[in-house]
Amino acid sequence: MTAPADVTSSGAGPGTTSVLLVEDDPGVAAQLVRALTRGGYLVDHVSTGGDALRRREHPDVVLLDLGLPDTDGVQVCRQLRQRSDVAIIVVTAFGEESDRVTALDAGADDYLVKPFGVSELLARIRAVLRRVKPEGDVVRHGPLSMDFRTRKVTVGGAEIPLTPKEFDILECLATDPGRVQTRQDIVETAWDANWYGPTKVLDVHIAALRRKLGVPGLIETVYGRGFRLGDV
Ligand code: CA
Repeated sequence: MTAPADVTSSGAGPGTTSVLLVEDDPGVAAQLVRALTRGGYLVDHVSTGGDALRRREHPDVVLLDLGLPDTDGVQVCRQLRQRSDVAIIVVTAFGEESDRVTALDAGADDYLVKPFGVSELLARIRAVLRRVKPEGDVVRHGPLSMDFRTRKVTVGGAEIPLTPKEFDILECLATDPGRVQTRQDIVETAWDANWYGPTKVLDVHIAALRRKLGVPGLIETVYGRGFRLGDV
């Protein structure tokens, strides 16, 4: 996936950033591939440590499950670190604290403990990318500019103060402008993977966002499908 022409994204912008997912559980992997793709990342998925180490492409981030069928995830982490300065986030099950410590010593940048929500996953990825590529991460769409690093939003140069939830919703739309995000997509990204509350709450936040941004047509309703950033 390449970034659309109307998006200028410097450095590690979504849409140009690749994630190597190393996860042997097919159910978890499918969920993560979906979440990462929706978050605007290019995803390459492998199920074993051997496959991860054989990959010739150079991802920006490796999301590495430590409980792998063929090799010790910590060993995979150590070998990846020896050959590159790729950002590595290890994923562990609850209770495996010693594994986390060993993985951090082996060169991992951060860790996530299962089960984790999509918003936390995306936030951790952004955080490690900021450390690896600190040059910034800005998406522009018409008069809208969103800096994912500073979480600053401007319209026509004027800063618009948003609540964290409003920012998350707008971020979900801005990572892939023009693409329709379903209500469920937005809710899962801005709230949590397993949030089954009424999507009416989303409408309230969308209405507030539209009012604050003050650009008619910027957040477009696609009836029966969801929302997207419109051409303005
Ligand atoms: Ca596993």
